[in-house]
Amino acid sequence: MNSEEKEILRVKIVEHIAKYEHDVAETEKMTQPVKPENSLGRISRMDAINNKSVMEASLRNKISKLNKLKVALINIDKEGFGNCESCNKTIQSGRLMFMPESTKCVQCAAR
Ligand SMILES: [Zn+2]
Repeated sequence: MNSEEKEILRVKIVEHIAKYEHDVAETEKMTQPVKPENSLGRISRMDAINNKSVMEASLRNKISKLNKLKVALINIDKEGFGNCESCNKTIQSGRLMFMPESTKCVQCAAR
């Protein structure tokens, strides 16, 4: 990956981070405890609890992705950035553009 591609990627990572931070904040709002005193009725309350666990799983995924993006932003200037952590070959720049948090090449990630 040349320095021009790196600059493009850096901008992308910053954009992704902003998007995920917003997403995480929005999802957090939806994982507030379900109040027992609400007037939803029993079935709706169970729905609300189910939705809450789906939202919590989704929130964990988003936070984990956000953290990986932050790591990518720190690592982008380090030597070895863009190399697969398993086989040490260069990760295709198209893959990094699409998933900047990738630390493995397509072949290793598919294993
Ligand atoms: Zn690899």
